[in-house]
Amino acid sequence: MGHRMIEEFLELVGIDAPSGNERRMADALKSKLVALGCSVSETAPPADGNTGNLLAVYPGTGTGSVLFSAHMDRVPRGLGIRPRIADGEITSGGDTILAADDVAGICAILEGLRQARTTQTARLEILFTVSEEAGLLGSAAFDASLLQAEYGYVFDSSGPVGRVIQAAPYGAALSVSVHGLAAHAGNEPEAGVNALKVLSRILATIQDGRLDEESTANFSVIRAGEATNVVCAYARADGEVRSHSREKLDAYIAYLHRHSTACVEQTKARVSCTAALKYPGFLVPTHDPCVEKVLHACTTLGIRAYTQRGGGGMDANHLNARGISCVGLGTGYYKNHTTEEKPLVDEFLKAGELADTLMRTE
Ligand SMILES: [Zn+2]
Repeated sequence: MGHRMIEEFLELVGIDAPSGNERRMADALKSKLVALGCSVSETAPPADGNTGNLLAVYPGTGTGSVLFSAHMDRVPRGLGIRPRIADGEITSGGDTILAADDVAGICAILEGLRQARTTQTARLEILFTVSEEAGLLGSAAFDASLLQAEYGYVFDSSGPVGRVIQAAPYGAALSVSVHGLAAHAGNEPEAGVNALKVLSRILATIQDGRLDEESTANFSVIRAGEATNVVCAYARADGEVRSHSREKLDAYIAYLHRHSTACVEQTKARVSCTAALKYPGFLVPTHDPCVEKVLHACTTLGIRAYTQRGGGGMDANHLNARGISCVGLGTGYYKNHTTEEKPLVDEFLKAGELADTLMRTE
């Protein structure tokens, strides 16, 4: 099986699948899923996309339904990937990412099905989403009433197989806009109000980075000014806040408003802040059958398993919000989203074994 999984990985990373244009990947996966005995449907594409989520159903002969999910798209710098294998590692050519995030997850699920279908399985629902990396757009638009499963596994986390992400934060997009006043920078600078200077003061004094043990904030995109000979009339910073606590998330948004307003008080500038929830957080308790089952499956396979809180949003956030208990599973890749991304071959193969074990019914 090792060889087969790696062959399939090399095949799939070679198919370009940027967020919003997963067409070729979806078509390739559709035929694989049909060949494995699934009925496959495709949902309507989200806005700005040409491909919908794939939902495959493998009927199984056992009781119950379980969801398995991974995403088809990849972050930018993922076109024309030429993977290499050496010393137990798969790497990109160095000029692209590798897209193990999340082709490794797709391969684990396909291999699990390939093995588990030789025995008794639950009804398996396999959801391959689109535009995950563009902001969880596929899972956000997904109609979970299409599912029968009450719980599921999202094969889309870095780290070793056995790492179980049982919680993820709420996330909100933030912006701070400062309106100053334009004036000729040489003739009458005193008539202007420099919005960029005011924005700088706001950012220089705001609390950000790690706020507490379960919350973070970051501002890193700035738009300001048009020319050096004009006093800057408008400046905007975009950022984000994440917290495992909804209350703390809301409290930070209120603080952002207060802080920004206080910073412009002694100036002639105006400030406005916006905040928009990007994804809801989740926590699947350790005693939930979803967690218990994967910990048990790891023990059976001799894999050291542990639960952790994740720091990012993933499709599991939206699935949990729709009442399906889902955890994220480490899939054996590291440094994802960079050109140094790599899965360890033995970890990657274990992910397939774990999917297989989770699919079987005793
Ligand atoms: Zn991913």
